[in-house]
Amino acid sequence: MRRSAARVLVVGVGGLGCPCALALAHAGVGTLGLCDDDAVEQSNLHRQILFDERDLGAPKLEAAAKALRAAAPALDVRLHRTRLLPANAVALVRDYDVVVEGSDNFATKFLAADAGMLAGVPVVHASAVRWVGTALAVGSRGGPCYRCLFEDLPQDGAPNCAEAGVMGPVVGIVAAAQADLALAIVDDASVAGELVTFDGRRGVLRRRRLDGRSDCPLCGGQPSIRSIEQGRYMGPVGYVENVAPASAG
Ligand SMILES: [Zn+2]
Repeated sequence: MRRSAARVLVVGVGGLGCPCALALAHAGVGTLGLCDDDAVEQSNLHRQILFDERDLGAPKLEAAAKALRAAAPALDVRLHRTRLLPANAVALVRDYDVVVEGSDNFATKFLAADAGMLAGVPVVHASAVRWVGTALAVGSRGGPCYRCLFEDLPQDGAPNCAEAGVMGPVVGIVAAAQADLALAIVDDASVAGELVTFDGRRGVLRRRRLDGRSDCPLCGGQPSIRSIEQGRYMGPVGYVENVAPASAG
């Protein structure tokens, strides 16, 4: 499709969402939807590059929209003042051509994966913890998908970036890879199943094609996930309590 006609939903306007959105805006994507309900905090500023000191305390969406419109005046920015939730995920995703998901918690990641697959909308996932980051492109029709890589929510409290911390430059590199994959989808290139990993300590960037799993519950031959059920996105503590804002990245 033409980039100017493309609509991309950015789930989580944080360390990954900010640089990814900026790259997409500069690359000529016509519409960016921003999904987040968080406010700008001092501790965000070193990696959330759409914000500066003047934005402290302001809703991230307003601050991000202002910066994106300044960077790309023709850009149509749509604001969704909410987290991605089981109740709204499919309806939100369905209005877009591509979803870029850079949230900092597993519940939102799995929810975006499932909603994208059920709605037939490609999703590019990205995450970064400490020195290691990954980006995965999932196509609109079948796998390989996020659940081929990570089967289900961890029940043992695996660290996310809010808990374990992340190196700012790693986030920038992974977000650039995520934007690159999203633009490839917009440009109708075949990148479904492409997995980019970056090891910031060794400075090694790898790109390979992920193998799908035939028994994957989301994209396999006999999928068990056919609708969004809230209970599926419960971590050890439960969805609401367990989920940090879908944005810190
Ligand atoms: Zn799968």
